[in-house]
Amino acid sequence: MNITVAIRVRPFNKREKEIKSKLCIEMINNKINIYNEKKVNKTFGFDYCFWSHDGFQNQLDGYSASILNSNYADQLFVYEKIGKNLLTNIIEGYNSTLFAYGQTGSGKSYSIFGYGNNKGILPMICEDLFKGDFLTKNLNNQFILSVSMIEIYNEKIQDLLISINNRTKEGLKVRENNKIGIFIENVTSINVNSYEDILKIIFKGEKNRTLGATLMNETSSRSHTIFSIDLLQKTNNNNKTTTKQAKLNIVDLAGSERITKTHAEGQRLKESQSINKSLTVLGMVIHQLYEKECGKHVNISYRDSVLTRILQDALGGNSKTTMLCAVSPALDNIDETLSTLRYEKKKKNKTKCYY
Ligand code: ADP
Ligand code: MG
Repeated sequence: MNITVAIRVRPFNKREKEIKSKLCIEMINNKINIYNEKKVNKTFGFDYCFWSHDGFQNQLDGYSASILNSNYADQLFVYEKIGKNLLTNIIEGYNSTLFAYGQTGSGKSYSIFGYGNNKGILPMICEDLFKGDFLTKNLNNQFILSVSMIEIYNEKIQDLLISINNRTKEGLKVRENNKIGIFIENVTSINVNSYEDILKIIFKGEKNRTLGATLMNETSSRSHTIFSIDLLQKTNNNNKTTTKQAKLNIVDLAGSERITKTHAEGQRLKESQSINKSLTVLGMVIHQLYEKECGKHVNISYRDSVLTRILQDALGGNSKTTMLCAVSPALDNIDETLSTLRYEKKKKNKTKCYY
């Protein structure tokens, strides 16, 4: 298992501007400094630190650096650094997963899906997939591309590509089979032949997600959304056919804010517990995978949450994982920011086999 961790800080939002929030973050190369009220700082190092806080202007094609030497990281920059690899990975036949982690409102969906003309990583991957020559440069190569989109809410899986009326309360079941491994029974999987095809599907899934959330009186920040791209490639060489199959999962995780802050009760408490549990299990599974890689005999707790169970085949083995952590720049969110960085830091230390 191979993991890359990136941190991204967004601009102040309306609320933070109104209350004149103080900036608590500084980024120097791949290091991030967090300052509290007393200006005492904590430093963390990651693979990438993306400064998307200031130094930008609003252009026709989205936000971009306002001056030549601005260090503003726009959507394209983030894509070039951490998105493009995901595309090359699946073409080479490696399963890959991109997670967006962070508190609600920190910029997860902005980074993954994007808003308006600020296209996110997912649409950019899809665009490159068809518009680049990745798949077509080898004339002996045939490919089948299919996509699915689901959400996990309170540990139940719902298909985002079917209408809400056709869903069952219990959601879809996870099954296992020797031939294909772990799969979600009856999940909609749609073959796609163009970038426009995929965009329509993302749009449909997003619409169903918002509609479902409204009907159930919850916000979409309480569910994990997973968009999966399955690529099957067949290459013909001297009448011999070889096949390569890989899956890319793009996961917009539920908000990571802790439950004490929201004073949750009843349904909200149940939601928060499910979210907490799956994020903790995810952290634990990644930790255990490293222990295993370092030669320890460990059982991986995939089964402890629906999220890790369905991603099982995409997390172990030769897979590649990227964590994008979105954080708020504001001092009044410092606790959540620190908890996000600590969550990620734990993972990054594991890469060095410190045992
Ligand atoms: P999350 O999915 O983590 O709950 P969003 O991605 O919806 O949060 O972001 C919250 C708000 O902040 C949105 O209005 C979004 O447009 C804005 N935002 C987030 N990240 C950025 C960024 N890097 N640059 C500009 N605006 C951003
Ligand atoms: Mg979101």
